[in-house]
Amino acid sequence: MRKPIIAGNWKMNMTPAESVVLSQGISNRYGRGGDEVDVVLFPPAIDLRSVITVLDFDRSRVEVGAQNVHWEPSGAFTGEISIPMLKDVGCTWCIVGHSERREMFGETDVQVNRKVRALVEAGMKPIVCVGESLSVREAEQAESFVCDQVRAALAGLEPEEAAACCIAYEPIWAIGTGRTATPEQAEAMAAAIRATVRDLVGDKTADGMRILYGGSMKPANAEAFLACEDIDGGLIGGAALDAEDFVDLVKTAM
Ligand code: PEP
Repeated sequence: MRKPIIAGNWKMNMTPAESVVLSQGISNRYGRGGDEVDVVLFPPAIDLRSVITVLDFDRSRVEVGAQNVHWEPSGAFTGEISIPMLKDVGCTWCIVGHSERREMFGETDVQVNRKVRALVEAGMKPIVCVGESLSVREAEQAESFVCDQVRAALAGLEPEEAAACCIAYEPIWAIGTGRTATPEQAEAMAAAIRATVRDLVGDKTADGMRILYGGSMKPANAEAFLACEDIDGGLIGGAALDAEDFVDLVKTAM
């Protein structure tokens, strides 16, 4: 009943010229796409225009989002990109609070919440990333840590505003490491996240919210994650840089 999402986070990979080749490869393999799965590409900001041009030309249903955004609409924020800029270029989605931004660039829960609120107000769809480090998991604090991140990210949102958001559970120790959570660990956390959303904004929004797993997901292991009751798709890093693997993941989610 919840439509799956397969989202590809390209991180800081692909020049604009390379982004054309990769998006063409995905579009050629996937065709125009059906309505069974939401497919979203998250290229670097400088590639957005090229990727959107390729997909528009092919009349593809694949959507495009940004990896980050500033919450202010304009101003003296050197190096930042605003929501009106993303909308103008044709982005409909945005990743917020990826662990790489939290860990390497000091992004805080308060900033994540500002970004989420600004995106929702502007009619865009945030994918909010949450996830614990290995030391937090080993200290058996993973669930409370992640659910606190969820509460902070969605703070102040009305149920219908929160309904525009998806949450990606990405244990930091599984990102880009080749090591995945077990489907049981991922499902337990996704269920805890859904229960937290239920407490915050009620049944309807919690039941409809799509929760993704991310962390070394690839065609060989995706089926087990996507079969879990509370997991509604994947946020894919490494495997999203290969058109064949990425489209295989989309097909697994169908
Ligand atoms: C990510 O960057 O969100 C991610 C899950 O990366 P990978 O699939 O490479 O672990």
